Amino acid sequence: MSQFRFSRRPDIGDSVSVSFEFFPPRNDDMEARLWETVKRLEPLAPHFVSVTYGAGGSTRERTARTVNRILNQSRLVPAAHMTCVDASRAEVDEVVGEFVSMGIRHFVALRGDPAEGVGARYRPHPEGYSNGAELVAAIRNQGDFDVSVSAYPEKHPESPDFATDFDMLRRKVDNGATRAITQFFFDNDLYERYVERARRAGIYIPIVPGILPVHNFGQVANFASRCGAHVPAWLAERFDGLQNDAQTHALVAAAVASEQVLDLIERGVSDFHFYTMNRADLAFAICHMIGIRPGLANGGSDAAAA
Ligand code: FAD
Repeated sequence: MSQFRFSRRPDIGDSVSVSFEFFPPRNDDMEARLWETVKRLEPLAPHFVSVTYGAGGSTRERTARTVNRILNQSRLVPAAHMTCVDASRAEVDEVVGEFVSMGIRHFVALRGDPAEGVGARYRPHPEGYSNGAELVAAIRNQGDFDVSVSAYPEKHPESPDFATDFDMLRRKVDNGATRAITQFFFDNDLYERYVERARRAGIYIPIVPGILPVHNFGQVANFASRCGAHVPAWLAERFDGLQNDAQTHALVAAAVASEQVLDLIERGVSDFHFYTMNRADLAFAICHMIGIRPGLANGGSDAAAA
C-alpha cells in the first residue's frame, strides 16, 4: 500500500529532514570509503551529520580528524559524539573545548558503554561524569550548543523500567538537551508508543527515529540482541536465505527501510537519523524514495549549485 500513499505526497521531500551518522575510519582504506560516502550523501543536504566516539576515548583523534575534515572539506554540518567512559570531567571538558575551537556547535552527548563492551557493568570514572545528563550539563556549560541525546523506544537494557529511562531523558532535557535520537528499532508501533509516553511524561524535545538500513542481517541481529532492540520474526523471514546473495539482500534492505520510513511519515514523523555504517547506497536509496534528491533536498537551492 505504501506506494499509493507515497504517490499522494509528491511534495514529501520538502517537509522531511534527514541526518546521517558515520563512525571514524580506522585506516586509509576506510577513510577513502567514508569520504566517498560523504561526497555521495552531501548533495542531499542533510540537516547534520554526526561522527561517533569510541569507548574510553579510543577514537578521540580519529573522531576529531573526521569532524574537522567534514567541516573544512564539505558543506555538511558535523556534530561530534562525546562519551563519559574512562575519562575524568577535566578530560571530557578538554575534548569538548577542542571540538568547540574547531568550530563544532552540535554535540551528541552519551554516557557510553563500558570499554569491555555492551552488556558489561558500567562503572563511571571516579572523577568522571556518570551519565548522559551530567555530560549534557557540562557541554552546555561551555556554550549555547545544540545537544542531542539518546532515547530507547525499547528501554535501555540496564534500565529496570521505562520510568527510569524517562526520568533520565527528562534530566537531560532539564540540563539543556535539544533533541533525542533513538536507538534503532524495526517496529514503528514501539516508537510511536514511546513518543506518546515521553509526551505524557512532559518531555517535549524532538525524538528523532534512528533508522538502521540492514547492510548485513546477521550482524544486525547479533548487535540488536546486545543492545536490547527487538528483531521481529517478519524481518528475519525477509532476509532468510540471502546470506550469500548480496545483491538481493541490498534490494530487500532498501525496500524494508523505505517501508519503515514511509510508514513513519504517514504517522507524522518528519526527521530521520540514518545509521549509515559509512555506506551511502541504502541511505541514498531510501532518501530517494522519500523525495530527498540531490538539488531538491530541504528546499535544495544550495545543493543544486554543487
Ligand atoms: P544514559 O542516558 O546516561 O543512560 C541510559 C539509560 O540507562 C538511562 O535511561 C537509565 O535508565 C539507565 N541507567 C543509566 N545509569 C543507570 C544506573 N546507574 N542505574 C540504573 N539505570 C541506569 N556509544 C558510544 O560509545 N559512542 C557513540 O558515539 C555512541 N553514539 C550513540 C548514538 C545514539 C543515537 C545512541 C542511541 C547510542 C549511542 N551510543 C554510543 C551507545 C550508548 O553509549 C549506549 O547505549 C550506552 O549504554 C548508554 O549511553 P546513554 O548516553 O544512552 O546513557
